[in-house]
Amino acid sequence: MGRLTVRGEMVIDGTGRSPIEKGAVAIDGERIVAVGKEEKIRQEFKAEVIDCSDQVLIPGLIDCHNHLSLDPTLENYLHRMNDSDAALALRASANMGIDLRAGVTTARCLGDRNFLDVECKRAVESGLLKGPGLLVATRGIRAPHGYGFMGYAFDGPDQIRGAVRENLRAGADLIKLYITGTLPGSPEIHSYLSKGEISVAVQEAHAMGVKTAAHCIGGVGLQWCLEAGVDSIEHAYFMSDREIDMLAQSDSWLVLTPSPFLTEARIRTLPSELIDGHLRERDRAANRMAAAIRGGVNFAVGTDAMHGGLAQEVEYLVELGAPTTEALAAATHYGAIVCGLEESIGTLEPGKIADIIGVRGNPLEDVRALGRVETVILKGKIERIAKKS
Ligand SMILES: [Zn+2]
Repeated sequence: MGRLTVRGEMVIDGTGRSPIEKGAVAIDGERIVAVGKEEKIRQEFKAEVIDCSDQVLIPGLIDCHNHLSLDPTLENYLHRMNDSDAALALRASANMGIDLRAGVTTARCLGDRNFLDVECKRAVESGLLKGPGLLVATRGIRAPHGYGFMGYAFDGPDQIRGAVRENLRAGADLIKLYITGTLPGSPEIHSYLSKGEISVAVQEAHAMGVKTAAHCIGGVGLQWCLEAGVDSIEHAYFMSDREIDMLAQSDSWLVLTPSPFLTEARIRTLPSELIDGHLRERDRAANRMAAAIRGGVNFAVGTDAMHGGLAQEVEYLVELGAPTTEALAAATHYGAIVCGLEESIGTLEPGKIADIIGVRGNPLEDVRALGRVETVILKGKIERIAKKS
């Protein structure tokens, strides 16, 4: 690892500033030291030049909702979380490689079995395995009668306090709560965790400076999460207009995960008891996600474990009405804010970690460019680069 100058057809630094034509990024070790016109950078910074002049350089992508060992391409995929720990670990290691090659340089993992995500994070940090930088939630926390295939059941405020503390001791970077199911009941959406249980979890996490994320599709549980100060609401497929307003007025973020409802192939591999409901509620989920985007909610984006599929999720955001600038920010700058890492990642600026990708085409003109990743640089190290003929 040393000094590199990466030259691109264009640099989009992710801050909202205008793109730099014939731009370059100068890297020293793990960090970016300069971003600007290639000519000027090359005069002032002597380094090996990496030629990405047929690509647009943008910040590395941030998947704000991932599960390393979950694989939606498998039949009955949610139940496959009951496979052996060895099977799950092998799957996770393959999935991390897929995510990284697709340009994901940071993944926020919202629940995996038996602290497997902590081991994955160590394996990436030690260089044993290839993968994005990870933030891990360890065990998801759910109620005994509640939903949550990636969660473990805890009952009452005392058990939940204990679970949060054990997760933190094991190395959790954030705490994940399961508030609701994934399909709306009728007429209202129920909350499996009580207001008191949600509050105690948030208090324990915040006391240690750790953020909280809640799987919540809407309903009274959403209100309780906002009152308790949950940092991000995950999915929120079925928020009412009133709930969208409450979320927009709050300091909490929404992490949108469109594919579980919008990608037909993914619905087909759900457990049979969930397929009809997802097909039935598909249009409504799309409609409510679009309303949240229109309603001024702050949002980032995640795949919910559709490994290699973050570009598709961003494309869905645009189809749901997000401007391309906002959709790109959701997968970069805003994702960094949700992770609490906005000081170090999410934009290409001097002093930040050199997580950079090169894509074919300008994603601000056509967001599908994010699906054409040719170069991946993680912490100043080239992880993927297109072969020049
Ligand atoms: Zn999830």
